[in-house]
Amino acid sequence: MIPYGRQDVTTDDIKAVVEVLQSDFLTQGPVVPRFEKELASTCGAAHAVAVNSATSALHVACMALGLGPGDVLWTVPNTFVASANCGMYCGAVVDFVDIHNATWNIDLGKFEAKLAIASTSGELPKVVVPVHFAGQPTEQKAIWSLAQRYGFRVVEDASHSIGSSSDGNPTGNCAYSDITVFSFHPVKIVTTGEGGAALTNSDELAARMRQLRTHGITKDPTEFSAAAPPPWHYEQHVLGMNYRLTEIQAALGLSQLRRLKDYVLRRNELAGRYGYLLHDLPLQLPMVRPGVRSAFHLYVVRLVGQQRARHREVFRDLQQSGIGVNLHYTPVHLQPYYRSLGFRPGDFPESELHGRSAITLPLYPTMTEASQDRVVHVLRDVLA
Ligand SMILES: *Cc1c(COP(=O)(O)O)cnc(C)c1O
Repeated sequence: MIPYGRQDVTTDDIKAVVEVLQSDFLTQGPVVPRFEKELASTCGAAHAVAVNSATSALHVACMALGLGPGDVLWTVPNTFVASANCGMYCGAVVDFVDIHNATWNIDLGKFEAKLAIASTSGELPKVVVPVHFAGQPTEQKAIWSLAQRYGFRVVEDASHSIGSSSDGNPTGNCAYSDITVFSFHPVKIVTTGEGGAALTNSDELAARMRQLRTHGITKDPTEFSAAAPPPWHYEQHVLGMNYRLTEIQAALGLSQLRRLKDYVLRRNELAGRYGYLLHDLPLQLPMVRPGVRSAFHLYVVRLVGQQRARHREVFRDLQQSGIGVNLHYTPVHLQPYYRSLGFRPGDFPESELHGRSAITLPLYPTMTEASQDRVVHVLRDVLA
């Protein structure tokens, strides 16, 4: 089976992990801060806060922005459930904005129209989570200007797109957002096994997220309320969680990060090759906006025309021929949980069309051209 994605772990990675295992600290040591520093400088942000998943990063990001009961969070339906669940964790109301039919990211026209309506009905979102689908950055400059106009905060879910850039801005530099979140799950661009990070240029948001990832506890004497604290003193100031990344994971991440440029380069090479090899088939291929460098976490195509009705069959045939295709995504609002909150088929037609026609083809940095040729050959047969 050729998988749709897979991690690349080298002997250098293994050596880095073993070194930590033989050191004094398995958690709360020097490697997590080093990983954070490297992440922040790679992406051009002031701070990176490492946590145990992107899901946790989204949660602390929303909490740090003060999202709570009575507030509203918007994201897109064409994403992993975590982009919406972070709003539910905070007791907020979650709603969605449909995607654009070419970029498959948030549709700016629909977004602006929905904001205008929400502003007259007094139901504007407090936080909006645009998702960099498949590795392509969202149109952050335009989103940020809407954020200024309507007064919402922006958390970029860049789980797919570390290493991407937009008009020279590396994703994660938060030039046009409050916080940017990455995932280090093994199928993503770089991995720590499980892990994630929240990047920001705000000292205050970074401090809040750091506190939230470790129970809401502070060990900084300048923040203590006790007048003459004893040497063992620490204080819990807010209700936080244990979302810490281990030293073992950070060592793997730090080692992987050295290959980020190579990974993104190879992913783009393979994506370019797919584009060339598939151009004559009845498929809608991924569109990368001008000025954008996608990280190509995923290579997603859509069936078009009469092939659309064969979505299920095409999937099954590819899988039976050893091609590990996947679907990104079943629209979040159609998950039974979100349906139970009142969402219905027809609410977000473009995301639903995407869910009925998209196929994620195998793409990972160690993929050989021979494997890629095999994917193309089988797909050609299946569509014939
Ligand atoms: C993978 C992913 C997440 C969650 O990442 P974890 O690190 O597994 O928690 C969130 N959003 C998107 C878009 C993802 O692809």
